[in-house]
Amino acid sequence: MSLTDVAGKVERGVRLTAPEGLLLLGEADLSLLRTLASLVRFRKHSDPEVTYVIGRNLSYTNVCWVQCAFCAFYRLPGEEGAWTLTREEILAKVQDLVTLGGTEILFQGGLNPALKIGWYEETFRAIKGAFPVHLHALSPAELLYLAKISGLTLPATLERLKRAGLDSIPGGGAEILVDAVRQQISPLKDTTEEWLECMRTAHHLGIPSTATMMYGSVETPEQRIEHLCQIRELQDETRGFTAFVAWNYQPDHTVLGGTRTDGMDHLRTVAVARLMLDNVPNLQASWVTQGPEIARTSLFYGVNDFGSTVLEEKVVSAAGATWLLSLDEILASIRSAGFTPRRRNTRYERLD
Ligand code: SF4
Repeated sequence: MSLTDVAGKVERGVRLTAPEGLLLLGEADLSLLRTLASLVRFRKHSDPEVTYVIGRNLSYTNVCWVQCAFCAFYRLPGEEGAWTLTREEILAKVQDLVTLGGTEILFQGGLNPALKIGWYEETFRAIKGAFPVHLHALSPAELLYLAKISGLTLPATLERLKRAGLDSIPGGGAEILVDAVRQQISPLKDTTEEWLECMRTAHHLGIPSTATMMYGSVETPEQRIEHLCQIRELQDETRGFTAFVAWNYQPDHTVLGGTRTDGMDHLRTVAVARLMLDNVPNLQASWVTQGPEIARTSLFYGVNDFGSTVLEEKVVSAAGATWLLSLDEILASIRSAGFTPRRRNTRYERLD
């Protein structure tokens, strides 16, 4: 199989195999990846528009016992510097977003043994009772642990949270969906099958989610491709993933250490993701980790969405990602690449 053969398959709209994805990731030059990823991007979204959502991250606790080697955000229960927001602090942060005309709350935190299902139900009801926001909340690791410490099954946990206001699930904690990698970087976290089963269950209950990939830690190129295949396979079954976002591992202040991959690797990775994930509608930029220039350039490598305006970021910034852009900077970045910015909600419906 040559790169010409693989390019021909993309042009004919034929699904790529894992070895073909690997060939593209390892050997295609950037200009070929740009051409092929743009072809697929414009097949899926013919208008030269880039969407974005006005949202904020709301990290509700940094207390976590899981001690992932790549994480600089958590504090162990009782450790100095551990915190959990009060209900009032949470509502004040939602109010800040609503005042700015925002619609999406990304509600995520550590695996805090003190917080059981009732805390989340009351918090979600308080948020949804007071504000017209979309609650994009709790990644699989949080959901699986919450079910366990609350003595509930996962479906029962999801159903209760949905009744309390959960609208969709962020795809965080996927890292690389290969157990050999997870054993190295997060041995106490959920397995590949547990992450996938959590998403499968949510999708079957009518709760959509995003999917993520944190690449650039210890995985091989083969394992990056295997991750994409895992997402694609589940999406064939459920159609529950609305978007995919890839970001690179941020090594500062982590136990794992190591180096940060560069922007060229990011462009290769998002382009190959666009080509492999033929059944996932949207690909998000990762400007918080990559900065505005690479995020803008990624719009020519298959990315069609700028994600959330964020407002505040505590997780990857603890590990050295320092980018925060204002809404005006996001809009300018999209326009300077020749695209029209279009505001959306979390369901990817246009709002303007
Ligand atoms: S990545 Fe999440 S689960 Fe792992 S230590 Fe950090 S907060 Fe805990």
